[in-house]
Amino acid sequence: MIREKHDLVIIGGGPAGLAAAVAAKEAGCDDIVLIERDRILGGILNQCIHDGFGLHRFKEALSGPEYAYRFIKKVRELQIPVMEKTIVLDLSKDKILRVSREGEIKEIEAKAVVLAMGCRERTRGALSIPGHRPAGVYTAGTVQNLVNLENIMPGKHVVILGSGDIGLIMARRMTLEGAKVEAVFEVLPYSSGLQRNIRQCLDDYGIPLYLSTTVIDIYGPNGRVEGVTVAQVDEKRRPIAGTERFVPCDTLLLSVGLIPENELTREAEVCINNITQGADVDDCCMTKTPGVFACGNVLHVHDLVDFVSMEAERAGRNAARYVAGELCEDGKEIAVKPGEGVRYVVPQRIKHGDNVSLAFRVTTPSRDKVIEVRDGDRVLKTRKETRLHPAEMVWVDMGEMDVSDISSLEVRVR
Ligand SMILES: Cc1cc2nc3c(=O)[nH]c(=O)nc-3n(C[C@H](O)[C@H](O)[C@H](O)COP(=O)(O)OP(=O)(O)OC[C@H]3O[C@@H](n4cnc5c(N)ncnc54)[C@H](O)[C@@H]3O)c2cc1C
Repeated sequence: MIREKHDLVIIGGGPAGLAAAVAAKEAGCDDIVLIERDRILGGILNQCIHDGFGLHRFKEALSGPEYAYRFIKKVRELQIPVMEKTIVLDLSKDKILRVSREGEIKEIEAKAVVLAMGCRERTRGALSIPGHRPAGVYTAGTVQNLVNLENIMPGKHVVILGSGDIGLIMARRMTLEGAKVEAVFEVLPYSSGLQRNIRQCLDDYGIPLYLSTTVIDIYGPNGRVEGVTVAQVDEKRRPIAGTERFVPCDTLLLSVGLIPENELTREAEVCINNITQGADVDDCCMTKTPGVFACGNVLHVHDLVDFVSMEAERAGRNAARYVAGELCEDGKEIAVKPGEGVRYVVPQRIKHGDNVSLAFRVTTPSRDKVIEVRDGDRVLKTRKETRLHPAEMVWVDMGEMDVSDISSLEVRVR
């Protein structure tokens, strides 16, 4: 078998992999390979033809492909080698990858690896919805791909389960393509998508959103969905008897969550965080396996791509430092813990203290709160927030941190 050696291998050519590649190259790493299983670079952004990307980074409302192209252009200008139509089959903890390209399998030995494989959607199987198993049940991202890239309209009369951003975007998209979107049903008492998407994708098109409601049965005895039964749920998400109603439809879209795609990560025995389902990383985006970095949706599911790029640049820059032997692996590291009102914080550890940014999600929607970053009884940072929502990631910049002076960090909301 052919075996190549490279300083840095980046797995995944979506926005995270692209930004990591550019940052690593600009930081002086010359021997980089960017591997993408699809036939083109850009990742999930290629099917996101709506606008709203890049508002933070470029102060422009770009479509997904336009946003991706800004980075693809940079990758080309910097002449970073790209292997498209190439899938990474496995990754060992010694950073040896087995890749397949059009039937040819080869091994690549890397000094450092950046994991940027994105995430995938939860399916009906993960939810165990009872009923028939007819055609017409899709994940929202699959339908986005069919409509936007393949020019296929999968149905005319749509029900959407889950108010995640993909579902909201597809409610509008299907309406614009001539379908009737009956409603969006959400099991939680609040939407799991961005507020701006509720306004722009549902309210502007008169599509109702029913909270604390779920699909309890799929009806389709003749091979195709003919309707679903929905019911309100109690605080433990159990259907409330007597609230059931039948909603006719020929298509059910599921927008019920994303799962970081970490099969390779697990294979390489990289330590995974139970809550994010992504790697446990330090402030340089390095996992507990030396030389293996992670960023983007494979690390934790992001709401905005601008922050994916920012995080990936940190991973790419530090991977370049690792390859150059400039990233000290010894020394003290401090744990970062989610406190009251916080579901998780990334990074989970601070080791180097260079320009630290903490990303976290709150557990429930709330108003007029204070975010606190503490070291025991010592409050290191506070910030007032008028509105916090689990759908929106919160970032707190801590600047340069002297880890020798801190014993642990806790982020909480009160
Ligand atoms: C429907 C939808 C709407 C969105 N709307 C917005 C919006 O309006 N504004 C906004 O800012 N953000 C939005 N986002 C979020 C944003 O698109 C994502 O956060 C971002 O694309 C994540 O980037 P990534 O590089 O981590 O993952 P991805 O874009 O998923 O890229 C991962 C890449 O890795 C490749 N890959 C995976 N495994 C392998 C392997 N084994 N070998 C080789 N290649 C591999 C995949 O093919 C893919 O190209 C939206 C996302 C979706 C899905």
